[in-house]
Amino acid sequence: MITTDAAPIRYLDPILVNQIAAGEVVERPLNVVKELVENALDAGSTSINITLYEGGKTYIKVQDNGAGIASSQLSMALSRHATSKIPDNDLFNIQSFGFRGEALPSIASIARVAISSRTKNDDTGYRIKMDGGELKQDATPVRSDFGTTVEVSDLFYATPVRLKFLKTAGTEQAHVTDLVKKLALANPAVAFTLETDKKTILDLKVHDQTSITHLKNRLDDVLSKQVTENCTLFNAKREGISIKGMISLPTFSGGRASDQYMFVNSRVVRDKIMMNALKFAYRDILEHNRHPVAVLFLEIDPFMVDLNAHPNKTEVRFRDGQLVRSFVLSSLSEALREASRNTTNALAAKAVAYITKEQEGRSACSATPFPRASSAAFKPSGRTSFSTQDRHQFQGSTAVRSFQDDPMPFASYVEPKVYTETHRDPVVPVMAVEHDFPLGSARCQIDATYIVSEKDGDLILVDQHAAAERLTYEKLKNQILHKAIPRSALLLPEMIDLSDMDVALITEHEQDIQNLGFVFDLYGKTISLKEVPILLEGCDVKQLLRDLLNDLTVHDAPVDFLMRQMEKLSTHACHTSLRAGDVMNIAQMNALLRQMESTDFSAQCNHGRPTYVRLVKKDIEKLFERR
Ligand code: ADP
Ligand code: MG
Repeated sequence: MITTDAAPIRYLDPILVNQIAAGEVVERPLNVVKELVENALDAGSTSINITLYEGGKTYIKVQDNGAGIASSQLSMALSRHATSKIPDNDLFNIQSFGFRGEALPSIASIARVAISSRTKNDDTGYRIKMDGGELKQDATPVRSDFGTTVEVSDLFYATPVRLKFLKTAGTEQAHVTDLVKKLALANPAVAFTLETDKKTILDLKVHDQTSITHLKNRLDDVLSKQVTENCTLFNAKREGISIKGMISLPTFSGGRASDQYMFVNSRVVRDKIMMNALKFAYRDILEHNRHPVAVLFLEIDPFMVDLNAHPNKTEVRFRDGQLVRSFVLSSLSEALREASRNTTNALAAKAVAYITKEQEGRSACSATPFPRASSAAFKPSGRTSFSTQDRHQFQGSTAVRSFQDDPMPFASYVEPKVYTETHRDPVVPVMAVEHDFPLGSARCQIDATYIVSEKDGDLILVDQHAAAERLTYEKLKNQILHKAIPRSALLLPEMIDLSDMDVALITEHEQDIQNLGFVFDLYGKTISLKEVPILLEGCDVKQLLRDLLNDLTVHDAPVDFLMRQMEKLSTHACHTSLRAGDVMNIAQMNALLRQMESTDFSAQCNHGRPTYVRLVKKDIEKLFERR
């Protein structure tokens, strides 16, 4: 409405003010539940029961056993900007969830609200009612347990336009359920129930245990044991900041994007910085379409974070986002590195289960051909039974013949009987010094693809390409991080014309670009590239530079930039790695094993696939039913 007459300026009607405030905070039932539960938590409750009808659209009840509200204060609780939670008027030292003092009046302005409460000092409870911002009933005595019960009916009845934006009861209920799970994770010492008119959705008890196990139990209850068994708990600390939580192992593939829960100072948040750090930590150990499971609790000095960035308080603003990011990222990476050392156990169990299941299908050895593709090639007779003669042939002539046929001197897999001291091949490393290596000693290569290694009777099977890929990648990562990328000089410098924007970017990021292994001179709007990373020799240098500049336009944090470039370089590295089909001798195989032992994340390739499986002696015995 635009008029040419000057309209008088008036104060907004208080109910309207509350409705406007409600517009910012209350979008759907989920927000009401969040405000009410946070009030209950602020009141020190240890048990919180939530009830919804129609996904909360028609009725929400939150009942707690907290401190309660004195009868004389009930009407205050429903008035705007009235709070008991900023004792010293310091907005940057807030320990409670609430502090704006506007949730209850806002909700009461758009719905029908009844609050019943009883404090420890009261013999009875009191109840107050408000409909659409109008007081309907002042504090009146009622029978009540200690604590507070807030009921919210007919959400948005006073602002029908908003009502139209609500989704189906099922959707709204799903949102609330998700929220309650988050709140329950952040408060593992508080019991929660979530019920609807029809059934109990969540019943999260506090098991009678110490505070150390509270979180573990709550994680099991909220995420299911099946998920938590595939996760690792971790924690890390630095001055003024700490993080703890649980993340899934690189080999776990059952995660959904919704299985990521983040908290800052116990508040449920959606924080881009933390989400990116998480994504980044898994970038080279998880396949792209997979999601890690993560529950992250960040604790940070209240002076380092603004919790007031948004009325519904799910967004926070860190004073030093870069610090938070690098702290979260390094903590997660360390936890993953630690965990990846343990992942192969689960794999072996899987392998044994798989093989055993395979064998259950076969009744007996004699009924089916011995599953030996290579030996079949030597015996075209097609006999179907496995006789003693076969066994002799396998141990003796067959094996020997295949080695003789092979031009490579790596055939060390010979029966111990045959394999005596005097026959020892000098290429094979001496046994005595081998047994300290975690990945054992290479025995042979199969299909020019897998290395078979032995360690104290355990069998270790290594996928050589997957392993080499990780080695190359980690090497590159180290080179980038330590600014020591080997370069190679171009025969003729590559001259590339640039836009003003490009020149500005290059000047600004000169050091980063050089750290990546590019050496150049700038002549006005032309760049002359003189050296490039050795790994990228022979690539289209112009295109490479374009990519680089594009990247700098979109993102600007130098660390991110380096890491992203590394990912790109690694795609290239992947092609130069040792491949399946490359024949190796024993010394080469052992060298690869030794490198794996001293390389982080060597249990997975860059794409999250395992690089080796270990069958411990016990597993092998199980396979042959010796156990
Ligand atoms: P805020 O939480 O920001 O202070 P609210 O409008 O949510 O504002 O609540 C106003 C006040 O009512 C709170 O400061 C608190 O003193 C009181 N209150 C609200 N809910 C509860 C509850 N469940 N138990 C005890 N006190 C409560
Ligand atoms: Mg509140």
